[in-house]
Amino acid sequence: MAFKELNLNTSLLKSLNEQGYSNPTSIQQQAIPHVLAGRDVFGCAQTGTGKTAAFVIPLLQLMQEEQRKTTLRTLIIAPTRELVLQITDTVRALARHTGLRFAPIFGGVPQHSQVQQIRAGLDILVATPGRLQDLMQQRLLSLNQIKYLVLDEADRMLDMGFVRDVKQIIAKLPANRQTLFFSATIPPDIRQLSASLLNNPVQVQV
Ligand code: AMP
Repeated sequence: MAFKELNLNTSLLKSLNEQGYSNPTSIQQQAIPHVLAGRDVFGCAQTGTGKTAAFVIPLLQLMQEEQRKTTLRTLIIAPTRELVLQITDTVRALARHTGLRFAPIFGGVPQHSQVQQIRAGLDILVATPGRLQDLMQQRLLSLNQIKYLVLDEADRMLDMGFVRDVKQIIAKLPANRQTLFFSATIPPDIRQLSASLLNNPVQVQV
């Protein structure tokens, strides 16, 4: 199967081609049509499967198709700074021809430049839970227009003790949103968390 068969727009096909991605991986083939159709998705996939592009590609397309393009609409939460930066690299590579604005947010560094990027205007925020919660509490960040939420490596997020932060953040988001939940493993607490966050999800797996 080729990316073209997934009904992707030309700006995405162009950046996929520039990245040297010729065909979608299994998780991408499974997830992309459901995300484009507006469904919530539970993705069970490890690093190395192409899971990042499986959510980034269709979200970029959905965002490009929207009429109102002026506010922060996509929030991607990941457990570590390293993962936040990796996801941001994928967004940067694939969003090149879309005009969408994005930034990574994580702790352990001064918040000043992150706050400046938020103020300048963003479409997509990629963040760790701690710094995100921190900026929200300082009222430097408003998430009331979020339409798309991604939780990546949710099992690691729970293992690292972020469950309270994550739940508090998500409680502040609009209920009317599309949620994509990725985890490499599905222990009972992940099953429970996903059930509380997802609305009639499709499960995809590699
Ligand atoms: P991930 O599982 O998201 O960490 O991705 C693993 C690696 O696969 C990354 O280096 C991606 O750049 C690469 N990748 C993702 N999708 C594709 C694709 N369709 N074709 C080739 N490489 C890909």
